[in-house]
Amino acid sequence: MQLYWIVLSLALITTACSKQSAVLPEAVEQIGEGAFLFTHDNERSLFLVDTEGVIVTDPLGIDAAPSYKRAIAAITDAPVKYVVYSHYHWDRVAGAETFLEDGAQVVAQERCAERFLVNPNPDVVMPDITFDNDYVVKVGDQQLSLNYFGPSHGDCLTVFTVEGQGLIQIVDLVNPPAAAFPKNPTIPYIRPHNIREFFQRTIELADERNIDTVVASRLAPGAADGEGSSATGPVSIVNDQAVFWNVIFEEASSVRAAGGVGIDGLVRLKYVDLDQFNGYAGYRKEDLPSIMRRVFSYYDMGR
Ligand SMILES: [Zn+2]
Repeated sequence: MQLYWIVLSLALITTACSKQSAVLPEAVEQIGEGAFLFTHDNERSLFLVDTEGVIVTDPLGIDAAPSYKRAIAAITDAPVKYVVYSHYHWDRVAGAETFLEDGAQVVAQERCAERFLVNPNPDVVMPDITFDNDYVVKVGDQQLSLNYFGPSHGDCLTVFTVEGQGLIQIVDLVNPPAAAFPKNPTIPYIRPHNIREFFQRTIELADERNIDTVVASRLAPGAADGEGSSATGPVSIVNDQAVFWNVIFEEASSVRAAGGVGIDGLVRLKYVDLDQFNGYAGYRKEDLPSIMRRVFSYYDMGR
């Protein structure tokens, strides 16, 4: 997939954009027809280019946004029409101000807007357009579909799919090249009551829309040199990540039933079937007690 787009990138840039750029800016990778990723530090943000305008997703912060804007301007003269937020975490959504000069409108799920009201950040622009369950952002032939399946990573994470291109992006939850352990084992951002349902509905959406490719939202861990930091991967990674969360919940239950949880609420690793976890990227068996304690907290306290 990736090689295919590298080979075709020259032709596609010419087709998708009014500028005849021969070389993509260093921070930009092409992943589809007029579909690109902008990278800043370890974060990647999806944008879609049409001759009529550009759909930007997360601006990636006030330092990144001006570079993001310059990278787009190197590809097309078309104005940025929309900035779409994936969720409410500031590392992803601060900096949209930079795109407002073009007349861009900001789009977010309504729970993101509620969060910004009660927990404002001067660097985060309030959305102009909010939606509840789904919304479609359309510019020319480019169409970004937004689907909300309840709290998952934070309370308003929105699944992105690119119409007609088989692309899905699930920011911060699924990242090529493989399903992975969470970076922070205390998983303060995970919403245990809905995470499995969220994945189930996301997989159903991917099936309905004939999605075949999942798009990265960051560099893979340890891939700062570009090695192993695939921009895209097979949609099966979404399924693998869903299995990861299902297994975490199931294993936490069975370890407790077997008496393998101490008075401190931490599982004893000798009770855990570790083999089912060691295939995941970033696997550290020492992280399992923290991750499973979050599950017990949900089971026992509903939090
Ligand atoms: Zn996040």
